[in-house]
Amino acid sequence: MDYLPVAWRLKAELALVVGGGEVAMRKARLLIRAGAVLRVVAPEIDGEFAALVRENGGSLLEERYRETHLDGVALAIGATDDQSVNQALHDDAKVARVPVNIVDNPALCTFIFPAIIDRSPLLISISSGGASPVLARWLRAKIESTLPARLGELATLMGDFRKKLAGRLPSIGARRLFWEGVLDSPIAEQALAGRVDQARAGLQKAIDDADAETLSRGEVFLVGAGPGDPDLLTFRALRLLQKADVVLYDRLVSPGVLELARRDAEMVYVGKARADHALPQDNINDLLVHYAQQGKKVCRLKGGDPFIFGRGGEEIDSIAEAGIDFQVVPGVTAAAGCAAYAGIPLTHRDHAQSVRFVTGHRKDGSVSLPWDTLVTPGETLVFYMGLVSLPEISKNLVAQGMRSDMPAALISRGTTTEQEVIVGTIGSLPADIAEREIHAPTLIIVGDVVGVYPRYSWFQTDQ
Ligand code: SAH
Repeated sequence: MDYLPVAWRLKAELALVVGGGEVAMRKARLLIRAGAVLRVVAPEIDGEFAALVRENGGSLLEERYRETHLDGVALAIGATDDQSVNQALHDDAKVARVPVNIVDNPALCTFIFPAIIDRSPLLISISSGGASPVLARWLRAKIESTLPARLGELATLMGDFRKKLAGRLPSIGARRLFWEGVLDSPIAEQALAGRVDQARAGLQKAIDDADAETLSRGEVFLVGAGPGDPDLLTFRALRLLQKADVVLYDRLVSPGVLELARRDAEMVYVGKARADHALPQDNINDLLVHYAQQGKKVCRLKGGDPFIFGRGGEEIDSIAEAGIDFQVVPGVTAAAGCAAYAGIPLTHRDHAQSVRFVTGHRKDGSVSLPWDTLVTPGETLVFYMGLVSLPEISKNLVAQGMRSDMPAALISRGTTTEQEVIVGTIGSLPADIAEREIHAPTLIIVGDVVGVYPRYSWFQTDQ
């Protein structure tokens, strides 16, 4: 982060604007909107600009800029086409430790102006750090078009009732949940529709009826985080993730997904690598119960889908046993995600009528699978956690009568920008990958559907 965005209170503060033309006036208008009092300095000041400053109680100094113009100001703006004046203003301001902005000259700025969406008291500012003001403005237009016009009224209404609610609900967590509920309720709709009196009455009643106990009840969300690409999260997963006070996550949950949690949420890593169990399962179950019993909203994020080789069942067992409310949110399982991004259809009318998800790793570390049932014509096999057992998988499938030239693919870090797809046959795959560096996690797909690769491939990575 090259800049820290802050919201700066300028009411009645003195702001120096050096420059008397169009550009200076644009900045002056913005400062006036924020309530600043202007001191404008320039040998010549445009008539319209001068009138604007006068109307708003500012002072006009029709003279060349001098260092003393900085006396008592909260900030300074340079908007002249005389670069020596801009430079002098910057240098003086630095010495005086006055924040300074020289228009269109990021190198001479100690602060910059973001693009603004103004729904006062609600403000959204967008900055590209000077890299591309056009991009920031383009984004502003996009965001602007999705926001209700009366957001400001809603913000004011919520502000008016903040104190009252604090008296009623002492816990910050309960208050946050209360407000989230309000935002999803007709009260917010009414305010946004301009029926402020109705919204006000509704809010008053909601506060009178607010029940601290219900709002402070802990809950667990068992959420599928998908195989890696954050775009594959469901809307509900995103909503609950943003609601959570505590997030317990696995090794498989991608950083892009974790980024979407609330900034103030407690993030707890409970990941497991194969043979290196960071936290034994019992401890994870206990932790979930422990946090929920403190009245927290707990999001248990699991790679892929929580109920597919995810021990989601075991976690739900202890939560249910402790009488804690929970929800389960499905996720895109690795088989679906990897297959889609690699362009391998798991079923296909010409090649496969069924698909089977198999784990290549058992609790005790061995692979013991019903090999004889795995070789079925027209069925795609997907092995999770199969990398280490690949030679064994290959040997057993062929021993049970699978053609050794049956197409097979290994997909590493599927759906991420590091995705790699290695295609061979069930006979050749162990040797094909033996010499290569393979990055976890990996998925193995076996079946005639792999034969369509790379005809259906669409997802490009740097590889
Ligand atoms: N619940 C998860 C699976 C957990 S088991 C799901 O539904 O996807 C962990 C195994 O999933 C890994 O060993 C690997 O085989 C597979 N896996 C998960 N994410 C993957 C990814 N992005 N690419 C390849 N395989 C993945």
